[in-house]
Amino acid sequence: MLMFGQFPARGEDLVREYRQYIGGEWVGSETLFDDLDPYRGTVMARVPAGTRADAARAVDAAAAAFPAWAELPPAEKQALFLRAADVVERRRAEIVALLAEETGCAGGFAGFQVLTATRLLRQAANWGYLPVGEVIRSDTPGTFAMALRRPLGVVAGISPWNGAHVLAWRTVVNPLAFGNTAVLKPSEEAPVSAGLLIPEIMEEAGFPPGVINVVTHAPGEAVPIADEFFDRPEVRCINFTGSSATGRILAERAGRALKRCVLELGGYNPLIVLADADVDYAVEAAAFAAFFHSGQICMSARKVLVERPVYHEFMDKLVKRAAALAVGDPADDGTVIGPLINAAALDRVSGEVREAVDAGATLLAGGDADGRCYRPTILTDVPAGARIHSEETFGPVLVAQPVDDADEAVAIANSTRYGLSAGLITGDNQRGFALARRIDSGVVHVNDQTVADEPQLPLGGMKDSGWGRSGPASMHDFTEIQWITTREGTGHFPI
Ligand code: NAD
Repeated sequence: MLMFGQFPARGEDLVREYRQYIGGEWVGSETLFDDLDPYRGTVMARVPAGTRADAARAVDAAAAAFPAWAELPPAEKQALFLRAADVVERRRAEIVALLAEETGCAGGFAGFQVLTATRLLRQAANWGYLPVGEVIRSDTPGTFAMALRRPLGVVAGISPWNGAHVLAWRTVVNPLAFGNTAVLKPSEEAPVSAGLLIPEIMEEAGFPPGVINVVTHAPGEAVPIADEFFDRPEVRCINFTGSSATGRILAERAGRALKRCVLELGGYNPLIVLADADVDYAVEAAAFAAFFHSGQICMSARKVLVERPVYHEFMDKLVKRAAALAVGDPADDGTVIGPLINAAALDRVSGEVREAVDAGATLLAGGDADGRCYRPTILTDVPAGARIHSEETFGPVLVAQPVDDADEAVAIANSTRYGLSAGLITGDNQRGFALARRIDSGVVHVNDQTVADEPQLPLGGMKDSGWGRSGPASMHDFTEIQWITTREGTGHFPI
């Protein structure tokens, strides 16, 4: 049996066993659960089925570490983040292999995750030097007034499996950079790459005990952990990335507990192709946006809206492109379409495609599975009643629709309850910019597709895609403002 930090080569008949990370200690657990390889269905690791008591200890540890971490000089924090980035970079190949094995992630997206994680850590290293307040003129004679930002305390992070590694880093790095300490609860589908790997790297980089804590749990057992987060006054914010359905539950709970929550949720992301677009470029952009990581990215394009003059040419080329994408083992070089995360996801995606076809949709590509992988699928004529018409599919499925003009495209883009990312491809950037400002989406890329993430840019959603923005903009979410005045001399009071 191997312990954490020891990654056997794929195919070696060894199952790693992990522990949780609480207060700088690797803590065992009475019960373990099986962490499955989604491509093979085999057990790749055994992971602690953590309990509410573990979450309580993790919150205690984070709360104890908070005062010293909040006061640590920026230069010392900077050195830690930079060292962590170096460790991620050094362990790149191992992390890419782990992402394939635990989450079915092919090399392209795994490499992107590692690169973005290192960039995030290196940029966050400087956020300790961002200005922390302003001096504002007071009308009271002799009074000097300031608005000063300070960290909140403990931030509880809840992360998803899909961009497992980079999103786990995002969940903890943003709060830590602004002086908070963290407890991370990763998805049960990726407890290692989205969870236990993070403190392993941070420990090596030298982060003090208690600054980061990770509690894992068995499938379906998130609620007791979350209960502890909501019930503890030391936890000042829930930093959630996941589905809109779960986000709604957490937002309701946060309302009752009067706790802040940051919600990075799902999307139904439109890609608009106007008649003046370079069609070949638009095809490449659409194939990437819809099928990268098998469409299991919050920003994946779900619907392509194409102006009629180029619709047939665009669709003919896109269908051929989709059919040519390599499907199979995510560990193989060249694979684009790996497995969906689990059997339930495969059932859901294939069921939603079947439902749309039964309701009258036309299948242009894919529509079936190869083992645990769902082939790149394109549908058109999807009736409004079908789920896929306006709900996030979370698989490699794209809905295509011709439109009369840009106004119709914008209206359709705005007709869903989501607003995460949009792409708009046109030969006229100025027109594209004007249209972008009419789309109700937290992110709009003109002459580009929907999937992009840079740590310094404010990724986040509108409407049911959530609230809060990542990067330096997250200072608003992970600090609070204190109004402090100092007064010279004495004042006069009217009673
Ligand atoms: P999910 O909502 O099922 O789970 C996310 C996390 O919430 C997991 O850690 C899970 O254990 C936990 N969870 C589930 N139910 C809970 C509950 N009742 N109380 C507390 N925690 C609970 O989402 P997922 O399937 O892991 O991730 C995919 C979803 O996340 C998609 O909808 C995708 O669009 C979205 N996502 C959004 C972003 C973004 O930045 N906006 C990024 C990645 C993924």
